[in-house]
Amino acid sequence: MNKNNNSKKVSKKNNNFLWIFIIFVIIFFSIYLFLPSINNGKTIPISTMIKDLKDNKIKSLTIYQTYADATLSNNTKVTSNLGSPTSPTSIFTSNGVDLSKYNNITISQNPTLSTSDIITILFILVIVASTWYTIRQFRTMGGGGGGIFSMGESKAKLFIGSKQSIRFDGIAGLSGAKEEVVEIVDFLKNPKKYSSLGARIPKGVLLVGPPGTGKTLLAKAIAGESGVPFFSTSGSEFEEMLVGAGASRVRDLFSKARKASPSIIFIDEIDAVARKRGYSINSSHTEQTLNQILVEMDGFDTTINVIVIAATNRPDVLDSALLRPGRFDRTIVLGLPDIEERKNILKLHSKNKPIDSSLDFDKIARRTIGFSGADLENVLNEAAILTAKRNKTVITEDEIEEAATKVVMGPARDSVRTDQEKRIVSYHEAGHALVSKFLPESDPVHRISIVPRGLSGGATMYLPTQDNNLYTKTKFKTMITHMFGGRAAEKIVFDDITNGASDDIKKASQMARKMVTEFGMSDTIGPIEFGVEEDSSYYGNGEKNYSEKTSAIIDQEVSTILNDAYNKALKILKDNKKILDAIASKLIQDEVIEGDEFNKIVDSMLNGSEA
Ligand code: ATP
Repeated sequence: MNKNNNSKKVSKKNNNFLWIFIIFVIIFFSIYLFLPSINNGKTIPISTMIKDLKDNKIKSLTIYQTYADATLSNNTKVTSNLGSPTSPTSIFTSNGVDLSKYNNITISQNPTLSTSDIITILFILVIVASTWYTIRQFRTMGGGGGGIFSMGESKAKLFIGSKQSIRFDGIAGLSGAKEEVVEIVDFLKNPKKYSSLGARIPKGVLLVGPPGTGKTLLAKAIAGESGVPFFSTSGSEFEEMLVGAGASRVRDLFSKARKASPSIIFIDEIDAVARKRGYSINSSHTEQTLNQILVEMDGFDTTINVIVIAATNRPDVLDSALLRPGRFDRTIVLGLPDIEERKNILKLHSKNKPIDSSLDFDKIARRTIGFSGADLENVLNEAAILTAKRNKTVITEDEIEEAATKVVMGPARDSVRTDQEKRIVSYHEAGHALVSKFLPESDPVHRISIVPRGLSGGATMYLPTQDNNLYTKTKFKTMITHMFGGRAAEKIVFDDITNGASDDIKKASQMARKMVTEFGMSDTIGPIEFGVEEDSSYYGNGEKNYSEKTSAIIDQEVSTILNDAYNKALKILKDNKKILDAIASKLIQDEVIEGDEFNKIVDSMLNGSEA
């Protein structure tokens, strides 16, 4: 493979030399064409020319600044160098020639290029250069360097397995997924061990999971561990404006992988080309591309040691033909990391960074619930940048905290706010925090901030004590109640409401509707799923599977859940108005209150009032 790459480089160099040569030839040719006529005759000594002139053997003579051109009586053209005389005619007069006697002599300047000649030459150069550039563009479009006709060549990047630096120990967590692929690595390393037993190893492995959960990383680690060539491409790279280009790229990719076998083909975002067939949203050549992938995978027999690894975060849209045994017959799901995995990912990515030795990785892992591996890596990177900006040499919890907030909510932004707006935001956030404090199922408050970030004017963050995969009905109701804490605080304090609660209302409404229609959590309606018909649901325009009458009952149930929660939030805040005022004032003054401080204020005021 390296040899191939080298020979490609050499031929590319040769091509460049060829083009430079052609351009030079054209320049010379142009100059030659546009120079005033040049004698081109034989060079003779000036003494011979003077003798010929005296002997009347010269038909015509032109004397330039530094040379003289003559046409002899027999029409032969000759030229002589004059050296650098003070005047071009001096050499003739000093040799006894009276030029005035001859009417066939012209005295002229050395020929030079006129402005129009230069413009014409430049024009030719521009045409040549743009033709050259256009041809190169066509080559690049083809991707493979073979001109427009190479549209069908695969653009897959080839990584040599043994040079692949990523190994399993470069992946934190994902132990289940790693175990699943160990045998694939073994198969690629020792194909004979399996083929001698007639074993058929999966032809395709589908990695499914949300963005940034390490799908590409795992595929690269398989290549790194097994030391085989790794052809990496993405579903969208098969798409091309030329119909059929996608399919021929698939053919080309598989044929290259077969030649290099044992090898791995990695197709990221396979959903771009492998969507369910038959839907109008698919163009016909997307379907051709998918068909070609299916054909190629069917073409593998047990002697061809090529494994196709594909990644997607939309397994629901994939064509079922792709998932049947013999094609992608193994599916590995990579979920968002749990608390232990987050801790390990953070530790792994902080290895090359100066981290404060007292940093509590457990706390950061708890605080980053819902973060993917890529998010965590990004948090550490942002923290390192922030540390440098602050001219510090060690990354502390403070920078990591700031970076984690930035990754979720965007950077803090300067925003001109009136005092009244600042008060409203402070009461809004204080309302969220205080309501959650009085709900036993709620997660502890981690931080309250009224620093505007992204689209939000402030935020209340929570620190879950553990990762939750199962949510109870009480937990959902709790979450909806503290989502309404902001709106309830505005109503109580200002006796008016703002649009600042729109996102809370949206999320609360979605949650309540899911409780009723998906999770069967409505006492009135019972455990029934309400939605759209299975086969038409994909494009969101399917038929509802429930009646208009049921629809009204669902709406009523959703409304009851939401209003109950809102009223509960109102009651909590009315009962604790003094604490709400204290938290809001502190926020107006400091902009940020950490969880510990918040708890201290609330607890001391509660104890004080109890006392
Ligand atoms: P996408 O679906 O967006 O293509 P992906 O699932 O393929 O995402 P990767 O590209 O593999 O995600 O991961 C992005 C980065 O996140 C990696 O380069 C790595 O730095 C980090 N990362 C993700 N998961 C892990 C993990 N388990 N251990 C260590 N690093 C991880």
